[in-house]
Amino acid sequence: MLSTRIVKTLDSIQRYSIFITHCIETKDLNSGERLHSLLVKTALNLDTFTSNRIIDMYSKCNSMESAQKAFDDLPTKNTYSWNTIIAGYSQRGLFFEAYQLFDKMASPNTVSYNSIISGLNHNGFHKDSISFFKHMQHIHTRLFFDEFTIVSVMGSCACLGALEFLPQLHWLVVVIGLELNIVVSNALIDAYGKCGLPDLSYQIFSQMLERDVVTWTSMVGAYARASRLQDACQVFYKMSPKNTISWTSLISCFAQNGRGNEALDLFDQMQEEGISPNGFTYVSVLGACADQALIEKGKQLHNHIIRCGTMSDLLNVYINNALMNMYCKCGDMRSARMLFDRMPRKDIISWNSIITGLAHNGHSLKSFEVFAKMREAGVKPSLFTFLGLLSACSHAGLIFEALQIFDLMAEYGLKPGSEHYAVLIDLLGRKNRLEEAVDLIERAPTQSNHVRMWGALLGACRVHGNKDLASRSAGALFELKPCDAARHVMLSNVYAAANRWDDAHQVRRLMDERGLKKEAALSWIVLELSRNMGCLVLHNFCTLKNVVKLDSCVTLVAQRYQKTKLISGRPISCAYSLEEPNISSNMKLTQARVIYSVAPAIGHNQEAHPESNLRVPAIANALEKMELTPKHRGSEVLELKHCQPATVEDITSVHSRAYVSGLEKAMEQASEQGIIFIERSGPTYATASTFQESLFAAGAGLAVVDSVVAASRNCPNPPVGFALIRPPGHHAIPQGPMGFCVFGNIAIAARYAQRIHGLKRVFIIDFDVHHGNGTSDAFYEDPDIFFLSTHQDGSYPGTGKIDEIGCGRGEGTTLNLPLPGGSGDAAMRTVFDDIIVLCAERFKPDIILVSAGYDGHVLDPLASLQFTTGTYYMLADSIKQLAKHLCGGRCVFFLEGGYNLDSLSYSVVDSFRAFLGEPSLAPKFDNPSILYEEPLSKVKQAIQRVKHIHSLANCFDVTAAAVKEESIVTILCIAAVAAEENLKKASVNSITLNVSTISSVFPIR
Ligand SMILES: [Zn+2]
Repeated sequence: MLSTRIVKTLDSIQRYSIFITHCIETKDLNSGERLHSLLVKTALNLDTFTSNRIIDMYSKCNSMESAQKAFDDLPTKNTYSWNTIIAGYSQRGLFFEAYQLFDKMASPNTVSYNSIISGLNHNGFHKDSISFFKHMQHIHTRLFFDEFTIVSVMGSCACLGALEFLPQLHWLVVVIGLELNIVVSNALIDAYGKCGLPDLSYQIFSQMLERDVVTWTSMVGAYARASRLQDACQVFYKMSPKNTISWTSLISCFAQNGRGNEALDLFDQMQEEGISPNGFTYVSVLGACADQALIEKGKQLHNHIIRCGTMSDLLNVYINNALMNMYCKCGDMRSARMLFDRMPRKDIISWNSIITGLAHNGHSLKSFEVFAKMREAGVKPSLFTFLGLLSACSHAGLIFEALQIFDLMAEYGLKPGSEHYAVLIDLLGRKNRLEEAVDLIERAPTQSNHVRMWGALLGACRVHGNKDLASRSAGALFELKPCDAARHVMLSNVYAAANRWDDAHQVRRLMDERGLKKEAALSWIVLELSRNMGCLVLHNFCTLKNVVKLDSCVTLVAQRYQKTKLISGRPISCAYSLEEPNISSNMKLTQARVIYSVAPAIGHNQEAHPESNLRVPAIANALEKMELTPKHRGSEVLELKHCQPATVEDITSVHSRAYVSGLEKAMEQASEQGIIFIERSGPTYATASTFQESLFAAGAGLAVVDSVVAASRNCPNPPVGFALIRPPGHHAIPQGPMGFCVFGNIAIAARYAQRIHGLKRVFIIDFDVHHGNGTSDAFYEDPDIFFLSTHQDGSYPGTGKIDEIGCGRGEGTTLNLPLPGGSGDAAMRTVFDDIIVLCAERFKPDIILVSAGYDGHVLDPLASLQFTTGTYYMLADSIKQLAKHLCGGRCVFFLEGGYNLDSLSYSVVDSFRAFLGEPSLAPKFDNPSILYEEPLSKVKQAIQRVKHIHSLANCFDVTAAAVKEESIVTILCIAAVAAEENLKKASVNSITLNVSTISSVFPIR
């Protein structure tokens, strides 16, 4: 009888246990509660085993209060009871309760510790998790942990990148013989990978006897994180079987490393192998489409997602956000907006994406509308929302609105960050409202980055030539960073420029008192000449004792140059030696199709620097190999040898005299130290020969200009010039070097063409991947020099925005066309036809100079445009035709960037062939299979904006297409240009109307 009852009870306990398991699995709290009350009625709640299951059920169904009650009601608690309730609290992040219970426990076992450690790890308290583990070892006299402890603590190390502790854990694993445990090994692979040591991951991986899908995926992830894509692929392709997670991990690895095309290929492969993507996969590939502006592919994915949309997780808010981001970045704001409006659920990221997307695509007003809707919907805007709104204002030049938005932040309890201030200060600066910018900085809370703000203002002051405010900004910077020697120097320069010598001395005394020394390598940068004042500060700032009057200084400078014999008195009208028997009678000049000079700056070299002394020799070798040198071509190709260096007068037509003498002075130091860095913020170096070799580079450019001009005076079809010179020049600003560049070779040549040859109007085309900020600065206010730059949007040095158009009398003679990353041949052809030709025709140059940067080549390591050898052939050929058409064929190319020696030299070779009128060899050099789709819709948008800003489209389309009589064309052009001048002040949109008005005045057939 008794035994039957026991059996019955055991039976029912087992049955209940099955029910409880079912409740836990289905998270069915209601049934669980009913079951619990049944157990209370039958007093089975006093059974420890059953009750433990009930506690577990409550805690897994997220009802900790009931779990605690069941725990409290239990008369006999065993270790399992304690562990269950502790784990419940710990997993939910309720550590106060968990610790309290843990402390009450008589003898916690490994499981008790693990509950806390894994809870801390899962809830992001990684440091606490490691400390708790250390505490655990400290309390117990022997090693006290198991594989689960280790896996949790390793997870924490991985998240913290805690490299010092990870090897100790690894050692513990070996000591207690867990190294063959697959779960532990997987955790080690993952942890070393996350700490950036994929080789250690691989060591463990390769020693494993058994691997599962997690092992392989972790190894792929470890390589992926270190951007070792090839290794990641190798592991991935050996893996079998692959699941969705492993595919996704490789796809996202390619996408995040800017290799969107490969990510998309992998995505296709994954589907071919019948593995279905999950939400994360879609987010990754959509990101790839967004970065590459692959709108068509993005739309296909969108369709795909909708087709598979029956899967519940597929249309969740993350995927919708990723889709919207893709549409915004591809500039398809209609689709982005439609998607946004139809999203069933929107989070703050959705709102911010659409607001920022509209702002960046020039729909400022629409972004304000969405913001209004956001407020109506009661969604609290974030700092990011306001950054989007401010950039909308910045794009449209709306200062009033920007200030309002800025003030609005306080209403939401948000404090503007440095980025918000920077956008606003930049906007005010561009509009020359500098005083307001100062007010703004002064209003900024003390903890914000004032150094950055004053720095931005100083930049704006420089552009607008506001000396007083520049002085004030520098002063503020100086106060903020009293121990920053460079700021002292900057301040002293400002004082010197303002003729405030007492103040300059005061700064020196302060520096002495504070024991500040300038970094030696910078010493010469501080030397500043103020021509207006007629004074020259000749000394290193630390010994700024004498401010010498101009007379004595000039003598001093002259003596120095004579002593070093760098600058001889060569006649500047002729920059190469006529005595040289090999070259350059006028006869020879007119026979040539190409004239080039070579200045390779062999001594100016830093090992492993991309701007290396191998560049020009690589080109020269390729020309030789492709039989494009005088040796092979006779009189068709002319190389100017023995070119003279440029004079100080040539250089100082662009650069400050202080810079030139400072650089020369720095040579002493360079020869002592071998190499010095001459640009504080950037990668420009100097060696002992840099000064001299830079003079030679500039001089070799001038020599080509001389020859081309001389030939053009004697024949209608002069040769094209090419100065194969380095260091490059277009980043060098008037006051100093920048971005690999020492002297602005092309700017110097432009001034030289004006001064020596009387060629007043110079048209400069800069197609380097980087913006030629130095050239731009030199001529920003000069109406006689048109600077047209195409460059990759967002690349170094960040200048060259589309709305920088020159200022003062030079307004309109600077044109910037930033191209989206991925732009290639098709983009550049459109730009040439739609922009370059129109601008040049309108400007009517006397000579065209070209900053020929070959770093836009798809193979170049420094940027991500997709030009090919064929693109450079097209440019060389088209520019040559343009020069022939507009300015007697006078055209000189200057080498700027280009850092893949192969693509650089082949592209120059093909440019030479274009000059010679020979067909391109591009098909031999280019590999079309490495190209991906160009972001043409973005390119078109940019072109439209430029046309709009520079009023390029309408007036000349009308004249070119419809008018035959030259006189009428001229009159029309003059009228249109005049109309434009007026229109700049009024609304730009009315240009169309005005052109048609003009057309009606002058009848057009
Ligand atoms: Zn460049």
